[in-house]
Amino acid sequence: MDFGESEIVQILHDHAVDCAENGHIDCRSTLRCQKLAAEYAEKVAADVRARAFDIQVAEAPWLDRQPSIDTPVAALMRIVQRNLTVGPFGYDNFRRSVRTTTALARLGELDIPPDAVVRTGLRQRITQSIILKTTVSWWSDRANPVLGQSTAPGFLRSWHRLIDSHLGTVQNYRGPEEAWAHASASTLVAAVDEWLRTTAMAHVIDWRYEGQKTISLTADDLNVLGGVEATCWLVDRFATTALGSWRKESLNWELAFLRSPKEISRRVGVSLSVLKQRPASIDLVTDVIANRLVEPRAHDRVAMGMTEAEIIDRLALLLGVGDATTALSLVRTAMTNAPTRSLQMALGFCLIPGDPAEALDQIERFESRFHADPITTANRAVTLYRLGRSSEAFAAALSLARASGGGWLWTPESLDSGEQLQLHYYENLRDWVLEFEKLSVNEGLIAPFGL
Ligand SMILES: [Zn+2]
Repeated sequence: MDFGESEIVQILHDHAVDCAENGHIDCRSTLRCQKLAAEYAEKVAADVRARAFDIQVAEAPWLDRQPSIDTPVAALMRIVQRNLTVGPFGYDNFRRSVRTTTALARLGELDIPPDAVVRTGLRQRITQSIILKTTVSWWSDRANPVLGQSTAPGFLRSWHRLIDSHLGTVQNYRGPEEAWAHASASTLVAAVDEWLRTTAMAHVIDWRYEGQKTISLTADDLNVLGGVEATCWLVDRFATTALGSWRKESLNWELAFLRSPKEISRRVGVSLSVLKQRPASIDLVTDVIANRLVEPRAHDRVAMGMTEAEIIDRLALLLGVGDATTALSLVRTAMTNAPTRSLQMALGFCLIPGDPAEALDQIERFESRFHADPITTANRAVTLYRLGRSSEAFAAALSLARASGGGWLWTPESLDSGEQLQLHYYENLRDWVLEFEKLSVNEGLIAPFGL
């Protein structure tokens, strides 16, 4: 007979109750009956906690606040990862720098060295982001100079000069995607890597290429006690929710940690209480390892050395700072290699701010090919609204009144502001529907949804 885990918990519990009623004759008064039931229940509960853990939820309260003594490690790690991969493009770069520096200092206080996080754990992500954003901007700047002059901000112009020396003239490339594809496989990668390894942290945070202060670090500075793999494990575990997107070595470390938490905490040099901020489960890790063997395709690098999950993550960051052009380049390149469900959905999403008509076309194509999920319906509502088809938009949003789950969505509030569309992570789709409802009240179009 095949019992579910919760049924086994129930059976063990009932057995312990029966055993107690019989004066613990069965377990010969060792109380093993109770211990077994409690241990198994705890194992199942831990597995549930580990599977439910979501870094975006941990990060959500800290998205607009300065990190403090209570900020969870996962939120600190995400602040650093987000700010360093987004780059100094926003209007409030001073605030961004301070937030990043504070988050790094907090990590340092928890014995997680900032240099290890940035220069080892996030090395690949930061390098990829810099190459992506600077090359796309290099292409448009060089291909369309205004009166023969560059219009890019100062920090970008120094990267453009570096790219000139590695990629040659812009006429060699038909578009930004081609320039970027070339850059990702060129000597530029080593140059950016070298910059990341030897530039003072304040200048790394500001993506400063010329006039940067250089420093020299040893292998000890660049890693936690356990070395490169342990460093990457710490960063994966606190910056990436899905274990399926972790590096393979990180899964091995997670298994080792589950078997010998105290020893691993000593080897890594990070306290057990910090490591335990993320719940873990052996069943979950082994499921993920087994899945990789069964479905290796999900871990294929679909574009520029990134997996699909990494690309989606990067898209959210790019769109979050209003860089839809780079996001579209990224998703189109990835689509040509792997036209998957998630990427196709992402393409429609990226098109909404700039080209709602094309976005609607993509979304409808997506819905006819795949099962329409609540997030896609929400995207359709936003797109219809942007196209001026308000009553259809409200009907679509209304159909989500009882939908569950959440995700990244364009905020209804920004739809009406006439300014740049804003992205927000909604834990509950219902909150998004309530915001959308306000649009209908403003327009006096239809009666409120009555939620
Ligand atoms: Zn007993």
